[in-house]
Amino acid sequence: MSKISFLKGDGRIMKFKSQIKKISALFLAVTVLTSIASCEGEQKKYESELYAMNTVINLTCYGSDATAQVSTELNRLESLFSVTRENSDIWRINSSQGCSIEISDETAEVLNIAEEIYNDTDTAFDPSIYPVVRLWGFTTDSFSVPSKADIQNALKLVDYSKVKIEGNTVTSPQGAMLDLGGIAKGYAGRICRDLLKANGVDAAVLSLGGNVQTVGKNPNGGKWKIALRNPDGGQYLCNILVDECAVVTSGGYERYFESDGKRYHHIIDPATGYPADSEFKSVTVIAQDGAVADALSTAFYIGGLQLVKEYLSSHSGIEVILYTNDNELIVSKDISSSLEFNGAIKEAQTI
Ligand code: ADP
Ligand code: MG
Repeated sequence: MSKISFLKGDGRIMKFKSQIKKISALFLAVTVLTSIASCEGEQKKYESELYAMNTVINLTCYGSDATAQVSTELNRLESLFSVTRENSDIWRINSSQGCSIEISDETAEVLNIAEEIYNDTDTAFDPSIYPVVRLWGFTTDSFSVPSKADIQNALKLVDYSKVKIEGNTVTSPQGAMLDLGGIAKGYAGRICRDLLKANGVDAAVLSLGGNVQTVGKNPNGGKWKIALRNPDGGQYLCNILVDECAVVTSGGYERYFESDGKRYHHIIDPATGYPADSEFKSVTVIAQDGAVADALSTAFYIGGLQLVKEYLSSHSGIEVILYTNDNELIVSKDISSSLEFNGAIKEAQTI
């Protein structure tokens, strides 16, 4: 059994993160914080904590360990996707001033998945949101509430339909800037799943902040058990029992700042330029592809129940667990029998 808690957002962890950031700046982006080996039944269990992609990452491998390989891979992916690291693919696109830029296969793949989700979510997921995200200070942790005029000006640069991806060449309009913060961790989870398997790890759980990727079958013979964090703190909402998949959660509670008693979070509605006024406290998406799950959880948080229903009516293999502002769980039909209600919530409504 593996129990994952999503540790993000509170002041203590933010402070911890900023300390780690300083350490990781010295030792490249990925730092192995702890590494412990123990025995669970017949299987040796290796647990490690890393810091990468601006988040704490927990890896549990069963049978054999591949922490070093995962750490190297996360470092490589971060050096492609980071908005702040000079010469990353995204940094070069954002500095391109309208010129065409050659990018890696991985960045092209993420940008193509992002385009699909952008088109299928009525543009709620828009990775060209970066000019607005930057204005709110979410990249640099120097938060401030921008003026309406600044938001309107930044919004003029937001339109992913104008970003052209042709093979490994990207051409974006002058001033346009991309941010893969809503999809990169899920993609990294999927890449690390394949890497773990290629390195002989048949069973593992990887948690990148709110993004969980399970690998293979739980060695105890049952399902993996993922505990869903309560955004208000306290008891978990419920347990989710799954085989190999990605389980990704988005919510305004994950990263936010307060100004004049008002809370501003990091998921921006591209229609307004302001933090999304969501119907939900959290949105969890379960899918085979971590990148898809990650992008969808961000989009559904913005688009609400109507978007979720529209999307599910035309796509298969996607499950959702929506925690509403009224403290109710709404879940897709096929996941309802895989939930254990021995936490804060006793039942769920199905859609
Ligand atoms: P987290 O990164 O905390 O897991 P999400 O997956 O929901 O949360 O992604 C939020 C991040 O995605 C923001 O920090 C920002 O970098 C980016 N982002 C914000 N709004 C949007 C949006 N409408 N579309 C795409 N990406 C977004
Ligand atoms: Mg996301």
